[in-house]
Amino acid sequence: MNSKSRAIRDLLFNKVRMTIQFKIIAQDGMARVGELITDHGVVPTPTITLNYTNALENWGFKPEDITEARDVILLRNTFWLKERGISNVREGVEWPRPVMSDSGGFQMVSMGKHLKQSFRGLEFDLDSRKIFIAPHEVVEWGKSAEVDLIMPLDNTVYTMDRNPLKFIWSAVMTAVWFRYSRKVADDNLYYIVQGGLNKFARRISLWDANRQLKNGISAVAIGGLAWDEPRSAMYKMVKFCTQRLPGNKPRHLLGVCKPIDILECIERGIDSFDGIAATREGRHGRVWLWGGKYFDINNSQYVNDNGVLDSHCSCPVCRAGVSRADIRTRFKIGDREAIRQLMAHNWHQNYQLVSTARQAIEEGKFREFKRDFLGTFKPFVG
Ligand SMILES: [Zn+2]
Repeated sequence: MNSKSRAIRDLLFNKVRMTIQFKIIAQDGMARVGELITDHGVVPTPTITLNYTNALENWGFKPEDITEARDVILLRNTFWLKERGISNVREGVEWPRPVMSDSGGFQMVSMGKHLKQSFRGLEFDLDSRKIFIAPHEVVEWGKSAEVDLIMPLDNTVYTMDRNPLKFIWSAVMTAVWFRYSRKVADDNLYYIVQGGLNKFARRISLWDANRQLKNGISAVAIGGLAWDEPRSAMYKMVKFCTQRLPGNKPRHLLGVCKPIDILECIERGIDSFDGIAATREGRHGRVWLWGGKYFDINNSQYVNDNGVLDSHCSCPVCRAGVSRADIRTRFKIGDREAIRQLMAHNWHQNYQLVSTARQAIEEGKFREFKRDFLGTFKPFVG
């Protein structure tokens, strides 16, 4: 079915059609500032998502709590929402802004047991149940649930796997699954480039991505990175991909959200990032600081520390003057609010980072900004 027939079908069946447009405002080297235009508003890029995971929900964290940072994308997981019988992506959250859905395929590869993959989809055992995810079902749900930016089911392989055939297979499988996905929706669908660190597999995936992008697909994502590979290898592969992708389409990097990685990959032409490191580390008491450093709130040296978490931070917690000592006391007894405050603070560090990076790109000073930000910082492992 071509896009014209799809438009007529959608009109007849009163289906909501979501579209994505992308406009580049400024460029500094490969780094760019843009606008991702969706039916639920415009998102300035480079940007980050707020990954609204089950963990965040369980701790009582609500997207509406990030009152001053609403020009970002909320990310929700198709698989878990479907499992809970949720039929609209904004159900249970007050978020009138754009929402991205990921398929859940990645989580299944890492969590599910007895994984079987075929051109029809992904089969695995979860909690002693047999589950099957088909590529078209992921997009069908995304479309009916009014998702603005849909990540289809893709086939990912552990980056450090030694068998090159697996990467080629993942690129081919992702391409086949994409064809099933595209039959359902194409206006707001991302093509996910796979292939790990294997250049041959990446070339196959990039060749197919470029065909699809020329043929009406609006956006592209780079997947299959940020497992255990060295940072330098990840950055090289990001550049290998962005150099071979069209300049006028938005580019998302899946599963990457540490400050140093965000900066290095903005420099290599990435427009948006998602990941859970900020909130996950906050939950465990690791406090992120401006400049990429961090400290552990559990350490006894903060018992009487009346300073805020980070004097450079403009998050609601730091602005309200909540002290390290206060948060530490409450965190140590498992206070839910303290945990939410640490998650919000860490996430805000990235929010502040992309906002400042955009300004630096517009002024043509991105490299200087990156150098000043990182200073003598040694990236933390993990
Ligand atoms: Zn803060």
